[in-house]
Amino acid sequence: MKVQILPALQDNYMYLVLTTHHHWDHAGGNAKLCKMFDNLQVYGGDDRIEALTHKVKHDDSFNIGELKVQCLGTPCHTRGHICYYITGNQDPPAVFTGDTLFAGGCGRFFEGDAEQMYKALIKILGALPNETKVYCGHEYTENNLKFGQHVEPENEAIRQKIESVHIQREKHCPTVPSTIQDEKLTNPFMRVHEQSVMDHAKQKDPIHTMAFLRREKDNFKV
Ligand SMILES: [Zn+2]
Repeated sequence: MKVQILPALQDNYMYLVLTTHHHWDHAGGNAKLCKMFDNLQVYGGDDRIEALTHKVKHDDSFNIGELKVQCLGTPCHTRGHICYYITGNQDPPAVFTGDTLFAGGCGRFFEGDAEQMYKALIKILGALPNETKVYCGHEYTENNLKFGQHVEPENEAIRQKIESVHIQREKHCPTVPSTIQDEKLTNPFMRVHEQSVMDHAKQKDPIHTMAFLRREKDNFKV
């Protein structure tokens, strides 16, 4: 499987042809593409997605050639947000996470709550194989990791990743893909079980910790 990252707007990454959610900076352009190419199919989990032709829900699956695509319902950023988990050749699996999971962070809770994001990040995406490549919807990695370092100043994996990401960005290279393993080590929103993260949030359970981190990140200035 060869994944072509398509940079768009200021910091968006797009991947033909699965649409994760209806926001214009992700689905805008679908109608134009469908006009340019015959028989283009647009998959998504929300009727608000531009030019949607195939509505999908959690656990649906379909094939693109030899690749198997599994739909993972991850509502929170938007009600109909879907992540796509792709397997089926010799390469490591890949997951397209839109604005649910970013490298080092997660999307804002526009249409959901901390409990839903916990389910999305920990129960669903966190259960994928560690080597799964994570293709997210924005280049937010550097700022996200700085927030992660604020949450866990002693986290060595975050410190190392900040260094390597900084070098990539200086060369104007994408920091995507990450991996599920990397996110478990460096992403505070996937580390809400860790004592160090709960201590930072002054909370005793992972879901309240998730809610705290999101509020804190919303106001975090690098
Ligand atoms: Zn969005």
